[in-house]
Amino acid sequence: KKRIAVMTSGGDSPGMNGSVRAVVRMAIDRGCEAYCVYEGYEGLVQGGDLIRQAQWEDVRGWLSEGGTLIGTARCKAFTERPGRLKAAKNMIDNGINALVICGGDGSLTGADTFRGEWPSLLEELVKNGDISTEQQKTFQYLNIVGLVGSIDNDFADTDATIGCYSSLGRICEAVDYIDATAFSHQRAFVVEVMGRHCGWLALMAGVSTGADFILIPESPPDRDWEDQMCDIISRHRKLGKRKTIVIVAEGAHDLDLNRISPTKVKDLLSTRLRLDTRITTLGHVQRGGNACAYDRQLSTLQGVEAVNAVLEATPETPSKFIAIIENKIVRNPLIEAVKSTQEVAEAIKAKDFKRALDLRGPEFAE
Ligand code: ADP
Repeated sequence: KKRIAVMTSGGDSPGMNGSVRAVVRMAIDRGCEAYCVYEGYEGLVQGGDLIRQAQWEDVRGWLSEGGTLIGTARCKAFTERPGRLKAAKNMIDNGINALVICGGDGSLTGADTFRGEWPSLLEELVKNGDISTEQQKTFQYLNIVGLVGSIDNDFADTDATIGCYSSLGRICEAVDYIDATAFSHQRAFVVEVMGRHCGWLALMAGVSTGADFILIPESPPDRDWEDQMCDIISRHRKLGKRKTIVIVAEGAHDLDLNRISPTKVKDLLSTRLRLDTRITTLGHVQRGGNACAYDRQLSTLQGVEAVNAVLEATPETPSKFIAIIENKIVRNPLIEAVKSTQEVAEAIKAKDFKRALDLRGPEFAE
């Protein structure tokens, strides 16, 4: 019987549990045995009871739960070959040769490296007497498939990542709460949202809540942004608006890449416009809570497809991840997507903001 393991890695996101549930149940449905690797790559490297078989009922009730119930971690050991050698040994000891990883670009890059190295890792294990040549033959190939779990929606070649709509919903809800009190006292609020390199959450939250001004890393404001922002906000106030909301992504900066902090925006609003201004940093509230309907559906459909993809993978096919493009669940090449994802960060660093926006896609362009 084929043994498929599933793991969550990198930053947690709502919907990760839905994908674990889908992979476990689909694997069982397809006549395979399902395994969970706990605590991300740490579990693969350490082995023992961090790698355990999962039955159908073990994932009951997981669909709506936020975070990841099998844990996640950052694992330094896996970034180096000796750690990956241990991971390979633990997988073979457990009879596992297919792995579905739900994580961000770091985790998925690691998975592809692991897969590429697999034959040479086995070679070394045989040489060290850790596995037999029969085992080497049986476990010749490692099949991996990626699922993108991220609240930031920062991954290329897919329209949505698992978790981003739950997080966006949470942000909108929080801004609605703030709206009520801001209106009452005619206050201004600077709301900081997550997204160190990606402004999707800030942009979409701004559109969804009718914010007065939005600051995102891919599109720094003009040099005279301070005047522009103050003009826009005072115009809104003159039109009778009783509240002001400015949404700032964590990674917001100006054209020279100097960070634009919520404090800086607050100082502008209070000194120039004499608005009673407060800062709200939403922080980890944005990651927590139940998965929204979209993420439950996405994680389920993509988890199912991930099992189909690992079962159909051949040694020749390059590593794949499961995407959603125009409402269709598809398999896309993993490494190209990782490269495009990293290219956005490079474009921002090189101050090529036009390229950064182009890479992000149409919703940023408009
Ligand atoms: P994310 O998956 O959310 O991008 P990280 O970049 O922190 O998060 O990656 C999570 C884990 O994946 C790391 O702690 C490490 O164990 C593994 N990893 C990341 N990048 C690589 C890499 N280039 N090679 C091997 N493992 C990696």
